[in-house]
Amino acid sequence: MATSTDELYHYNKDSETLEFCQDLDKSDALARFRSEFAIPKRKDVSNNKDVQNGDDPCIYMCGNSLGLMPLRSRDLVMQEFEVWGEKGVEAHWDHKYNRPWASVDETVKDMMANIVGAKPIEVTTMNTLTGNIHSLLAAFYQPTAEKNKIIIEKKAFPSDHYAVESQIKLHGYDPKSSLITIAPREGEDTLHTEDILAAIEKHGSSTAVIMLSGVQYYTGQWFEMEKITAFGHEQGCIVGWDLAHAAGNVPVQLHDWNVDFACWCSYKYLNSSPGGIAGLFVHEKYAHDTSRPRLQGWWGNEKESRFEMKEGKPDFLIYIGFRAIKVAYIICHRSEFVPTPGASGYQLSNPSVLATTCLLGSLQVFTEAGFSALREKSIRLTGYLEYLAEQVLAPHAANYKIITPKSPLERGCQLSFTFEHGKMMDVFNGLQANGLICDERKPTCIRLAPTPLYNSFTDVYHAVHTLKNVMDAVYGQQ
Ligand SMILES: *Cc1c(COP(=O)(O)O)cnc(C)c1O
Repeated sequence: MATSTDELYHYNKDSETLEFCQDLDKSDALARFRSEFAIPKRKDVSNNKDVQNGDDPCIYMCGNSLGLMPLRSRDLVMQEFEVWGEKGVEAHWDHKYNRPWASVDETVKDMMANIVGAKPIEVTTMNTLTGNIHSLLAAFYQPTAEKNKIIIEKKAFPSDHYAVESQIKLHGYDPKSSLITIAPREGEDTLHTEDILAAIEKHGSSTAVIMLSGVQYYTGQWFEMEKITAFGHEQGCIVGWDLAHAAGNVPVQLHDWNVDFACWCSYKYLNSSPGGIAGLFVHEKYAHDTSRPRLQGWWGNEKESRFEMKEGKPDFLIYIGFRAIKVAYIICHRSEFVPTPGASGYQLSNPSVLATTCLLGSLQVFTEAGFSALREKSIRLTGYLEYLAEQVLAPHAANYKIITPKSPLERGCQLSFTFEHGKMMDVFNGLQANGLICDERKPTCIRLAPTPLYNSFTDVYHAVHTLKNVMDAVYGQQ
């Protein structure tokens, strides 16, 4: 495979025009999915109330932070209100749209599994991401005096860092010695796989868990997950991944890569609504493993007896004289937890029906579009963003840098642009004033994520030219 998208698509001078982009959009079989989403108007998202063409759609390149609203999610959620109003509690079993609430999680299971390369038994939807990190570490982080370290990235997302640190403390260890972080080399932004492997080799014998992000939220780097997982296993470590920026963005194969556990939020590339329900993966090899302690809740209990207060097997307690024993027996056994095999056994509460249904709408669109076609478009779209930026922003080459790796094998759709300290916010505010919605990570980074479901090549064209105009204003024409 070519290492950069320029090599893949042979762009030339003619590739820089608006017509070129419009032609690409016309021949794009996925272009029709854009109309599945609500795209905010320029005047509604700009910080400039005099923004031109205010009723036109904005250029939304922020799917890495919050995906746009799938129109069908709104319709599906309205159906849930309707059913709630008509049936009340009965809708747990009797649902006119055939999504009984008692098993609402099953409506999204197979599609979700497909997106992360997992078997249905390996995936569930529950909680939110940080909650799932805790649930998974509760089961998979079993430190001992010899093996109590957790390896993460130095620049891990803050919530991941906090969660891991607190888990170490909960077990009575000290993050100062038990938390190992991997940093980029001096003067570099992304991590070398060999440096990650070297850290794992160095600490492997004293490390219980390695937990990295699949795609790094700041740099957009997609780590070599399969290789790192295999190497971690060789060193006797459990290997888990946070797929917040990977799920729905890059093709991961959690089952085949033998990943132990993973979790992700669904409101970024999976468009499930702000704070939407999160995903959790536990490899099939643990499907019947009840030896690990875990955070338990009634929804993780096998379905057949979820609603029962268990009484064990009291048949032999037939004599009235044994009444007292029976009561004691019931008390002792009523909380006996029998987990559902697989990931569903980690569920705690009955899942939010509104949140799950919102996710369902988005996953239906994903499934119709097909993940491999989306990925193929994604590679082209991001490659084109990179190419056009290099051409159009050439006069400003000294004023910005793209820190995301160039190879499509090492990134998803996000490109992270960095600007010098003190200028980034001026650039960012200028973009928003001109109807380009992206996000900033202080102190120097602006992230642009053209997503294949609803972004077009024309969007990319306008994004780059907006950036050029704003940089001209901030830095002066070069
Ligand atoms: C977005 C993101 C989160 C957010 O966590 P929530 O629990 O959903 O609020 C956590 N970790 C990473 C790596 C993220 O990208």
